[in-house]
Amino acid sequence: MALRREQIVASDKRHLWHPYTAMGPYLSDTEPLVIDSAQGARLFDRDGKAYLDGNSSWWACLLGHRHPRIVAALCEQAQKLCHTSLAGVTHEHAALLAEELVAVAPPGLPRVFFSDNGSTAVEVALKLALQYWHQNGRPERRRFLALDGAFHGETLGATALGGVEVFRRPFASVVLDCIHVPPAKGGHERAFAALEQAVRAHAGELAAVVLEPVVQGAAGMRIYPPEYLRRARSITEEHDVFLILDEVFTGYGRTGPMWASEHAGIVPDLVCIAKGFTAGTLPMAATLASERVFEGFLGDPERAFYYGHTFCGNPLGARVAREVLAIYREEKILARVADGAARIARAFAGWGGLPGVSGVRSIGMIGALDLGQQGYLERAGWRVFQEGLKRGAYLRPLGSTVYVAPPLNIAEEELELLLGILEESLRAVLT
Ligand code: PMP
Repeated sequence: MALRREQIVASDKRHLWHPYTAMGPYLSDTEPLVIDSAQGARLFDRDGKAYLDGNSSWWACLLGHRHPRIVAALCEQAQKLCHTSLAGVTHEHAALLAEELVAVAPPGLPRVFFSDNGSTAVEVALKLALQYWHQNGRPERRRFLALDGAFHGETLGATALGGVEVFRRPFASVVLDCIHVPPAKGGHERAFAALEQAVRAHAGELAAVVLEPVVQGAAGMRIYPPEYLRRARSITEEHDVFLILDEVFTGYGRTGPMWASEHAGIVPDLVCIAKGFTAGTLPMAATLASERVFEGFLGDPERAFYYGHTFCGNPLGARVAREVLAIYREEKILARVADGAARIARAFAGWGGLPGVSGVRSIGMIGALDLGQQGYLERAGWRVFQEGLKRGAYLRPLGSTVYVAPPLNIAEEELELLLGILEESLRAVLT
């Protein structure tokens, strides 16, 4: 017999430790949403109520939930091969996925290293950069440079780059050495100058500059100008420092083009991909590298990259990731983003005048605004979240930043509905 909602919540509260959740208030005051199923842009709870998925389930389900082609590909692959190691052996889908990925990646990144989530995609990039310099004549290049407010994942390596203070603080004394610079504080020219000055001053000891291109997601959907990326590329090239772009959130069309780096027309040395890579179906990620980086690991076996996760190149994930790319091609997903992006931009611009709303902004299929002071621990966004739930939308905020990042293929009427619910929820909170 199917368990009732209350029974599931009781088990949950007895044992489950939730990510990014203050467990005290959760245990005492929270009636969690119990998701039972999902289809397209909608989540369904245990009582059958539907919610439009305003953030593509942690920014991953770019093609909505249970796309029939993805489900079919997954089931078919499960009949044949669920898992194999990738250490010195290969299989059809890992090999062809790498080829197909390189074909759509920014040019000049022909080597693909698989892992299993966004943090590990970043970890791989960091280790590749460190090891490259270690064994290619510049072992003193051990530091990284990232942005204030950056978010690159959960491993200690990725945590070192993180610039969200509340996430970083407990680990600050043990993580890798990272210099942080402001992305836009004090005007763009000042920010460009700060970046250029920091790279110039530390070039001899920098392994890489690491950036979320154009949008800093977890910082609160902070958008910065592509010119910043162009400057970052040119100063890193000038000093022969690697540029790592973390496209975990921004890749696969979230900001419009396939890669956010396209806004600036630049190519990094390493790029990190996850989330949309399997359209939120399975944990699988990739780090793409230039031929120069790859060649830095050839020669003596001691120079090899001794790194690999159990599930890197997992056949189920690889098969799904290939199907995702096929859907992007055949359903012309990127071409469809333009209409949704324009609709989101119009809606958010229209809310700029609401009392208490500031910083309305949008790019691609992202729209965001702030309610009061920005900050992850601020509560204002959660009031909108509660109003959204009542009206049938899941609008998890980033503290005081309220945003949408729906599936790229959300139907026009569903997007209209989502934005309508957001507007009503905002008005309910602000009046
Ligand atoms: N990089 C960026 C830019 C992200 O937004 C995230 C996750 N939100 C990560 C890395 C980490 O990805 P994962 O949660 O899959 O480890």
